[in-house]
Amino acid sequence: VKPLLEVKNLHTHFFTKSGIVRAVDGVNFDVKPGETLGIVGESGSGKSITAMSILGLVPSPPGKIVDGEILFKGENLIGKTEKQMRQIRGKEISMVFQDPMTSLNPVFSVEKQMIETIVTHEKVTKKQARERATELLNLVGIPDPHKRLKNYPHEFSGGMRQRVMIAMALSCNPSLLIADEPTTALDVTIQAQILELFKKMQKELDMAIIMITHDLGVVSEVCDRVMVMYAGKPAEFTETKKLFDNGKHPYTLGLMNSIPKISPNKEKLKPITGLPPDLSALPTGCSFAPRCKHAMESCLSIDPSLQKVDDNHLVRCLLYEETKKAVTT
Ligand code: SF4
Ligand code: MG
Repeated sequence: VKPLLEVKNLHTHFFTKSGIVRAVDGVNFDVKPGETLGIVGESGSGKSITAMSILGLVPSPPGKIVDGEILFKGENLIGKTEKQMRQIRGKEISMVFQDPMTSLNPVFSVEKQMIETIVTHEKVTKKQARERATELLNLVGIPDPHKRLKNYPHEFSGGMRQRVMIAMALSCNPSLLIADEPTTALDVTIQAQILELFKKMQKELDMAIIMITHDLGVVSEVCDRVMVMYAGKPAEFTETKKLFDNGKHPYTLGLMNSIPKISPNKEKLKPITGLPPDLSALPTGCSFAPRCKHAMESCLSIDPSLQKVDDNHLVRCLLYEETKKAVTT
């Protein structure tokens, strides 16, 4: 299958007074039509900046895509004008963020906002747009969609508001939906319902999803493949099942230990100790070394490269680079 999206050698840097922040520093991945790809990592790992780079939303200055290609349906998005990107966003690629209030306009009814989005991008009448909006609210599980369309964003609960946001993102049948922490602000029960909704959409709509999250639990629920990011680079990249059965990178294993276990006697979470590195002053060698339980002397001088350890399984860690380990230890 031809990929829908190919991100090649992406570098997005921020030129700040205190130095160059290498937020995204060499990222490669593709997304196939209809698949859900997870991008997981702590805050500051570069996952949101990767998404913003795809959407043409990197604040510039100080941000800049300094290298790489973002091929969407074979066309490079880097270098497109803001006007062209606005056309692509909303129609071809749409997005859902953690806080729907930032993307919903509080002074207009949901109906007005949805109709506006639909008629901007498609040649349909207002009446047709209204019908489509009603269908979409129904699809995302909002009861009484005819009535609820008239409501303003603040008249919805947090979970319902996120559903409205998702319905709006689906307005123009995008082929790619980018969801950045879409359930993080919601309580556990509502979070589970929204993840169910993502699964349902995945089945019913022919749409690829990039799911950005700090939570491997979310990944296990909805993603086909997953890229774990650390300090602006992929640390591990494989199928979701492989990651959970046979995850290799010490950072991945650390993230796994911090998944809340759903059990009556809640196991204590073991977060990874330490903080992500300062991206304007990365240590030499492996950027995870200061926090890594398995760090060897060579880890302080050699920056590991992403290596194939199995079919469709890439890992960036010297523990799996036999030759380098042998030479330097
Ligand atoms: Fe840990 Fe070394 Fe692997 Fe980095 S390269 S993750 S420091 S073992
Ligand atoms: Mg983020």
